[in-house]
Amino acid sequence: MNLSEKSGWSIVNTYEKLPKKFYSKVKNANFLNPKLILYNESLAKTLGIDEEIEKLSEDEKAEIFVGNKPIKHTKPIAQAYAGHQFGHFTILGDGRAMLIAEQQALDGKIYDLHLKGSGTTPYSRGGDGKAVIKPMLREYLISEAMHYLGISTTRSLAVSLTGEEIYRNGMEQGAVLARVASSHLRVGTFEFASLNEKEDLKKLANYAIKRHYGEILTQNEENIYTKLLQNVIEKQANLIAKWQLVGFIHGVMNTDNMTISGESIDYGPCAFMNEYDVNTVFSSIDRNGRYAYGNQPSIGQWNLSKFADTLLPLIHKDEDMAVKIATKALSKYSLKFNKAFISGMKAKIGLLNNEDDYLELIQNLLTMMQEMGADYTNTFVRLTLKMGGKDGSYLQGTKELFDSSKFKIWQKKWLENINSSKIDKKQIFENMKKANPFIIPRNNIVEDVLKKASSGNFEEFNNFLNALKNPYEYKDKNKNYQELPPKTMQKYQTFCGT
Ligand code: AMP
Ligand code: MG
Repeated sequence: MNLSEKSGWSIVNTYEKLPKKFYSKVKNANFLNPKLILYNESLAKTLGIDEEIEKLSEDEKAEIFVGNKPIKHTKPIAQAYAGHQFGHFTILGDGRAMLIAEQQALDGKIYDLHLKGSGTTPYSRGGDGKAVIKPMLREYLISEAMHYLGISTTRSLAVSLTGEEIYRNGMEQGAVLARVASSHLRVGTFEFASLNEKEDLKKLANYAIKRHYGEILTQNEENIYTKLLQNVIEKQANLIAKWQLVGFIHGVMNTDNMTISGESIDYGPCAFMNEYDVNTVFSSIDRNGRYAYGNQPSIGQWNLSKFADTLLPLIHKDEDMAVKIATKALSKYSLKFNKAFISGMKAKIGLLNNEDDYLELIQNLLTMMQEMGADYTNTFVRLTLKMGGKDGSYLQGTKELFDSSKFKIWQKKWLENINSSKIDKKQIFENMKKANPFIIPRNNIVEDVLKKASSGNFEEFNNFLNALKNPYEYKDKNKNYQELPPKTMQKYQTFCGT
């Protein structure tokens, strides 16, 4: 039996084999009174560590998950990176996080176990290295919701209180999130590497290929680095299309928050759109709407162009030639994004075949939704219910649209298309349910459950989290999670994960 087939700690720590400039060793934390408040047993099972964790006392668990104690005899590290933040290049690094272990899970894959909020590191840039309870619970809730929506993402294993009070908006409880990622390699890690010698950049690129795109090495590729670029472009195009399809707004798509693996990462000021408006921005610091819903696809491409820049020396020794190759790879991004987005939209309206006017149908629906300020999620749920012969008129934020004469004309064309496909409507209803979440983590409910959980009452948080584990199930008992925010919350603002 190979090591990874049996459960238990299987710590591999591969990142440390990269040149030392890519990380710094850091000390374990020293929080005086840690307490575990959330733990993701099913994720621990996937990692093969549930039984190991079960053996520990509550105190020992808390000591590990705040970073006080190492797992086995590992030494934590903080990773170095750089990034374009709102378009401006900066040298960064884990300023309040550390990688405590890389675990080879039962599926043979390696996962980073990373603690966010565990104290200062050489990359803290004057920050306190800490995090507080609400944003950490928020990342836990939203990253898990994204996972269950079927979107590639980092996940959350635990949240622990540190026992400290930290000054943010007044005094708040310090907390640490244990995050699991298939790696923390970012576009920004490559931007950092490209400041160094070519040999270091090459080592990082080889590491990334081995960790995420190993198949490249077996394909007899002419240039494995071009192939790396193409693979990341494809992964990110698909990821961002999925964000758009569920109305997810990341909020801070800096290049240091874009992964090489294609997982969504860093749930700071993110939020889900209610009313469909391509200009929607929630983040308080995004004053110019750089990361607005409608800009996410093009920002994705901008970030990838920064990634491509870093790889130029590896793509071809002749710079002009390298630029030509990278530009060609980047030009495919829009095609890939559009393909993923349009096929996702077709699924959302129940079209499977290549009906002639599907593009027009999609475009017209979105235009009407924007004009009438229809609720994004509820509109698609109501269309789905309609296909199932069920009444969705109770769904808030859909009345104006569904009652309009424009919509009636659209609906006629839509149903003509559906009928021409000759697929049983019941089947289409089932398919549409799989493409249109019944519930999403709506801002108003997120805020409400976080407020209660951060003062120790987890009941509603857990109920919400459990409901979000089956977002595509159309259950009457979850109707309360479909309610829109009250008018007072329409100017909802999110803040960076402080
Ligand atoms: P983020 O906006 O969370 O992606 O963080 C951007 C950068 O700021 C990262 O390098 C973080 O590690 C760093 N950072 C964020 N908050 C803190 C903090 N409280 N102390 C030190 N560094 C921080
Ligand atoms: Mg970040």
